[in-house]
Amino acid sequence: MAAVLAALKASGARSVIDLGCGEGRLLRLLLADRAFERICGLDVSYRSLERARSRLRYDRLPPRQAERITLLHGALTYRDKRLEGFDAAAVVEVIEHLDPPRLAAFERVLFEYARPGCIVLTTPNVEHNVRYAGLEAGKLRHGDHRFEWTRAEFQSWADRAAERFGYRVAISGVGSDDPEVGAPTQLAVFRR
Ligand code: SAH
Repeated sequence: MAAVLAALKASGARSVIDLGCGEGRLLRLLLADRAFERICGLDVSYRSLERARSRLRYDRLPPRQAERITLLHGALTYRDKRLEGFDAAAVVEVIEHLDPPRLAAFERVLFEYARPGCIVLTTPNVEHNVRYAGLEAGKLRHGDHRFEWTRAEFQSWADRAAERFGYRVAISGVGSDDPEVGAPTQLAVFRR
């Protein structure tokens, strides 16, 4: 989350939408930082949004703070006007929850329609899984993950999306970098 926050700050974004915000871990950090004037969290899980609302103590925020943040119930695989007009979007540990046949729809929703100036997106690096002692060989990190990519797979997905939709992309590792299998998490920053 610190790496995502740093990338968002470096982009100079004043408005940020957190796509697949879950229980609002990133939203809390964004809210605590005055640089972000308009913050929005979207998730398909209503229950997660309720948790986010309570973790943010939304009902007790002073009006000036509450005005900065909006929570939206919606899916990332359908075009949605509410996603348009943000300087930046965060997509943190979300794409691996999408069914591969739905990825193309997600790409259009994000890169073509929402079209923020900057996108900060993370996903697990599957090569790192061998370093998790408790994880059986060949298993993914989470029961709801539909896939986990190698560094090369992520790079080629990101390059293709950037090229197709007119963005530049830079990828880095997040977490302790392992000389053999890389860092646990891959982070891509797309700029238009
Ligand atoms: N970004 C958060 C949550 C990651 S878990 C964090 O890092 O803490 C993945 C989240 O993506 C879940 O909250 C899940 O409900 C959401 N999600 C999965 N598929 C989605 C979809 N199609 N549209 C919107 N959100 C989705």
